[in-house]
Amino acid sequence: MKLKLCYYGDPILRKVAKPVEKITDEIRELCHNMVETMKGCDGIGLAAPQVGYLLRIFVSNLASEDEKGELHLGEPKIYINPILTAPSEALVERNEGCLSIPKLYLPIVRPLSIHLEATDLEGNTFHEECYGYPARNRMHENDHLNGVLFIDRIKGKRRTEIEPELRRIKQYYSKNV
Ligand code: ZN
Repeated sequence: MKLKLCYYGDPILRKVAKPVEKITDEIRELCHNMVETMKGCDGIGLAAPQVGYLLRIFVSNLASEDEKGELHLGEPKIYINPILTAPSEALVERNEGCLSIPKLYLPIVRPLSIHLEATDLEGNTFHEECYGYPARNRMHENDHLNGVLFIDRIKGKRRTEIEPELRRIKQYYSKNV
């Protein structure tokens, strides 16, 4: 089942999500629906707060990035209670977008690589060394679990410049959802 997306302006996107205590049938169903919703929206990642659940879960189908910078999708993966550590000192600026802030793509500075630890649907812990765009993707989704949106990483004059566009998006989605 495709779930309803929460858009910029919805207060749930600003809340800190809670850890998943136990992997129940409800959690399995939510993860399944999140994958379906992500695919249905042509997204490469989706976090639980974006579909109205304040739980530390995100899904992604972004497998890798090749030397040419092209992104390759793989089997959708589920990340429960993810922990991101060891961000690289090297930073990169790349364009980013978000299903909750439609049609806004902006260059965002983030570490080039990161280490990730999470639990899968079977309750097993797994690790990932993320590099390039997949690292960015996991950091973007993990930010959602802390009530942080990618636009928060834009500071100063550039942030002021996008405010009218953000106001427009907020207004549009508060009326049309
Ligand atoms: Zn997002």
